[in-house]
Amino acid sequence: MTGKPAGREHLPANELGASTVSVRGGFEPAVGEGISPPMQLSSTFHHPIDPDPNVLPFSYGRDRSPAFEPIERTIADLEGGRFGLAFNAGMSAAIPLLFEAKPGTALVMPADCYFGIRVYAETEVAPRGVEVRLVDQTDLAAVERALDGASFFWTETPTNPYLAVADLEAIGKLCAAKGVPWATDNTFATPILQNPLEWGATAVMHSVTKYIAGHSDLVMGAVVTNDEALFGRLRAYRGKNGTQPDGFGSWLARRGAQTLAIRVRQQTSSALAIATRLQAHPHVTRVYYPGLPGHPGHEIAAKQMKGGFGGMLSFEVKGGAAEAEAVIAACRVWMPATSLGSVESLIERRARWTGEVAGPALIRLSVGIEDLEDLWHDLERALLAAG
Ligand code: PLP
Repeated sequence: MTGKPAGREHLPANELGASTVSVRGGFEPAVGEGISPPMQLSSTFHHPIDPDPNVLPFSYGRDRSPAFEPIERTIADLEGGRFGLAFNAGMSAAIPLLFEAKPGTALVMPADCYFGIRVYAETEVAPRGVEVRLVDQTDLAAVERALDGASFFWTETPTNPYLAVADLEAIGKLCAAKGVPWATDNTFATPILQNPLEWGATAVMHSVTKYIAGHSDLVMGAVVTNDEALFGRLRAYRGKNGTQPDGFGSWLARRGAQTLAIRVRQQTSSALAIATRLQAHPHVTRVYYPGLPGHPGHEIAAKQMKGGFGGMLSFEVKGGAAEAEAVIAACRVWMPATSLGSVESLIERRARWTGEVAGPALIRLSVGIEDLEDLWHDLERALLAAG
């Protein structure tokens, strides 16, 4: 018992909008306490000689900690889930979910999801006797066939880097019919625009590094689930492996998340404008953005994404790798860098990564919150200079 006054009750997240939930950030101060939660750097917690875990939840920082509970609660509330867990990277959040696939069965996943997760499954999960089955997740008949003999389905929508859209409602029904648990990487969509638990997902995973933290200054991941047994397994895995986030990163992530909704709204509206203009540009051969009416997943994205199609898009320039590199080199506002979801607009040629499935002329954009016309003029000038 700390002897400190108790914090106020948490607001009922399910009755509030996403901006309100993220601004309150999973923390209610007691009277006299700061309204920004203190940064918690302790690795261990003072306890009585005979600790009762129901009275004192915090014991050692690898298990639970007031350092990361506010950000865990924020992400869980935004996703509409009961349990949230933060990890020291998006990869650390994804890995124990991939290990939900049992030896002697199959793990089904899309070929064009984030390649780091696919490569991990192929190199680290498959050797444990799990068949990794790659499927086109937009082909529901193929997904249905692939689910036979599977014990876990991994999905991502929109995908990295081709912005393919999976139908979460249909996948939820197929997985329920086959009794296969499934998880979605919701990093591109953000919990503001899409909540896969609503469509029956067993778990939602985020690279918090990207939109949720939003400032390119930390690496973190999260899982949200309504399944208490799964939550227990993931927490035990995190505790054994020491893949919990640190106090400073957790504090920064929570602060960044307070502006998530307003950032995503700006990024989404700029991305739609840029995608529309790129489509009409003579040096561009193809644009991949689910907000464009001609995108094959547009209708499905409109059904399952709320208030926009996200801040990520890809496009192909006329020519090949050299032309794409020339465009990137000519940009001054767009920053040539990998990663995404930050306030800064980032540009990169995805095929430069070994293991990535991307054509040589494919350029991926992560639209930031700079002025739209600055972003557009920079890109337009770079396309002309390179073309
Ligand atoms: N999922 C997606 C869609 C990503 O883009 C990334 C990283 O680029 C990850 C997962 C992995 O997250 P992290 O880099 O935080 O480990």
